[in-house]
Amino acid sequence: MAGLYLHVPFCKSKCAYCGFYSVASLKRKGDYLESLKQEIIQRKDYLHGEPVHTVYFGGGTPSILSIDELKSIITQLHDTFDIDPQAEITLEANPDTLSLEYLESLRQLGINRLSIGIQSFFDNDLQYLSRKHNSAHARECVGLAKKAGFENINLDLIYGLPTSDADQWNRNLDLFLEMDVPHLSAYALTLEPNSILTKLIEQGKTAPVNEEDAVRDYEILCQKMAQHGFVHYEISNFCKPQMQSRHNTSYWFGIPYLGLGPSAHSYDGTSRQWNNNVIASEAKQTNLTLETLSPEQIYDEYVMLRLRTMWGIDLKYMRREMGERFYDYCLRQAEPLIAQKRLSRTGDSLYLTDEQMLFADGIAEELFWA
Ligand code: SF4
Repeated sequence: MAGLYLHVPFCKSKCAYCGFYSVASLKRKGDYLESLKQEIIQRKDYLHGEPVHTVYFGGGTPSILSIDELKSIITQLHDTFDIDPQAEITLEANPDTLSLEYLESLRQLGINRLSIGIQSFFDNDLQYLSRKHNSAHARECVGLAKKAGFENINLDLIYGLPTSDADQWNRNLDLFLEMDVPHLSAYALTLEPNSILTKLIEQGKTAPVNEEDAVRDYEILCQKMAQHGFVHYEISNFCKPQMQSRHNTSYWFGIPYLGLGPSAHSYDGTSRQWNNNVIASEAKQTNLTLETLSPEQIYDEYVMLRLRTMWGIDLKYMRREMGERFYDYCLRQAEPLIAQKRLSRTGDSLYLTDEQMLFADGIAEELFWA
């Protein structure tokens, strides 16, 4: 079992808070498409013929590509990899790029999951984030996606915005619930180093971000989603039962994946590779960095990724796959955290409750090897 991630590094314009690799110009699109096809062919053996169960087009703005462009990429993927007929194929999309005709064509290409970057249903939030779309686009596009036949839909929302208060965040969540879609990814606004927003805040030209607002909104989020029967399966992800993103879940379960396109990461079980943030000018993507993971790094990654999920750390798995040394160490480190009620244990699982999850990164650090 394996996954494919394809990074599409183009956007209509750059959002102020963005930390992803993308450029606000389509000038290099031809080069990108050609080098991507070559890269698919060059790296066909990376997954050792494993059947591909998930394909994910992320970005950037994948929905900026035309149907013909997406079709040629998907055709190349099918020609190169053993893609399961039941594979989950996700495309990230921005509301202002979606029409009914485009969405219907996506369905015909076999794309069966849509992840829409709504971020907020309110114009003051969208303007603060300098998104291209407005609240009308945000509200309309979900209906269009459903009309086109999409059932497996995720909406992204951002909380902790200085333009929003608890009441507006509640109304954002109510609007999400009214849309009746099965998946929500909700992220706290973070200030990326060198982002436009970080600079504007530093210069006092826009409202600063307050951590307490994010904590307040996170509590509202967890409560509301639980009340409506959503499963909180990862720190930022909520779904109706059985509707989790299979692609993202496979990252947390250590399933190998191949990342294609600028800045994409790959993992084969023992090493990580990542492509440089460069749109290849020649028809090849050779700018790879390789890191072979030590047993200690594999342990740290497992702890970090799994503590962010509802499955938590599986102690039986750790003992079997990593050995007594890591198992004993993990238990020793966990003991004081459990006593302080910062970490929970049931049977062979170490996990974080909703309240504890706010501090997931710090708690993971206390369990790390180094
Ligand atoms: S649409 Fe997404 S990837 Fe593009 S600039 Fe905005 S946040 Fe970044």
